[in-house]
Amino acid sequence: MALKGHQLNRRVIDDLKNRSTIGMYFYVIITLAVLATDGFYKNHVVFSAFFLTAMLFIAVFRISHYYLFDKIKNIPPVVNNGIFFASVYATSITWGAGFAYFMIQPGEISSKIIMLASTVGLNSGGVSAFSPSLHTSALYTVLMLAPGAAVMYYYGIHLTLVFMIFLFILYMVMIAQRANREYWDALENEYLLKQKTAEIEKISRIDVLTGLYNRRYFDEIFNIQWKVAARNKDRLTVIIADIDNFKPINDTYGHLAGDAYLEKIAEIFTGIFQRETDFVARYGGEEFVILLSNTEKNAALSLAEKVRQEIEKLQLHFYSNRIQSTISLGISACVPEMENKKENLFEKADKALYQAKNSGRNRVVFYEDAKGC
Ligand code: GH3
Ligand code: MG
Ligand code: MG
Repeated sequence: MALKGHQLNRRVIDDLKNRSTIGMYFYVIITLAVLATDGFYKNHVVFSAFFLTAMLFIAVFRISHYYLFDKIKNIPPVVNNGIFFASVYATSITWGAGFAYFMIQPGEISSKIIMLASTVGLNSGGVSAFSPSLHTSALYTVLMLAPGAAVMYYYGIHLTLVFMIFLFILYMVMIAQRANREYWDALENEYLLKQKTAEIEKISRIDVLTGLYNRRYFDEIFNIQWKVAARNKDRLTVIIADIDNFKPINDTYGHLAGDAYLEKIAEIFTGIFQRETDFVARYGGEEFVILLSNTEKNAALSLAEKVRQEIEKLQLHFYSNRIQSTISLGISACVPEMENKKENLFEKADKALYQAKNSGRNRVVFYEDAKGC
């Protein structure tokens, strides 16, 4: 499975950035709120100035990195990702330092409560935002909460709270683990769904027996090619081919023999029409259609003639039988105009095929029409 290993690819890094950057607006607002509580900033002017400046700087940096620098294509992704992760850890370290400072102040109960509640809230938000990377989630939590708890433990203040903070860190890491698993499961399902959809789309274009394109896809491509040719004034050629006396092959040697013969015919077609713009499809039972772009009459005629000759030479050994037949081909071509009907070109190729059948089979007929499409 392509996603095993939980690599932080472009998609995951983008998810991390999208999920976490919006939070920076809240960090700034909450910084202002905690510093304002009970006039905390008045008693701690230097700290407050540092804390606010640092949080503002980080927020402006992360938001502008997200909206501006990250969009500059010539910065290598490794550098961009490095800047992103460094700024994420700078956020949690700075907040963690602020949290520690608040918690060791004597008194200032309301400010401490607001700071504690804000820190816990911002922390759970961070854990959820960074869940695509378990490593980032866990480190974010620890850097934000552990320094405060450690300093409180060192000074021997609010020891029950210290214990609860450590418990909370543990709880957050467990939540991060679960959220991480869920994120990657969802991503893997999304990936599988895309892969299956692409497979189904591919299968829906292919004729199962011959591996050529099927009629449904031919009609789709013909429609597109018609418009492209009309716009670019390109010549479009349609060849319709029908195996001669195919029914007796089925009747004499059985349906499986007929199928094997059709597969061989398909190989001849794909061997001859090799240009990237050549489009070969099985249009019906033993009918094939080829669409060629920018191909002159003589080139189309000689390709069709080559098909006719190779099929005439083909001898398919099916068990003890030797199966041999011929094919008739009708061609028509024109430079389409937007107002022309594409069905006309197809009908003319069909008429040419009819002529080929009526004039003895095993031949190529080109439909001449001076009027164009
Ligand atoms: P003609 O030279 O006039 O084209 O004669 P024909 O016998 O080839 O023409 P007709 O259209 O009467 O016969 C087509 C036959 O193709 C009838 C059908 O049994 C057979 N056929 C259609 N689809 C398949 C298929 O998928 N496998 C096999 N084995 N035969 C098929
Ligand atoms: Mg037929
Ligand atoms: Mg036939």
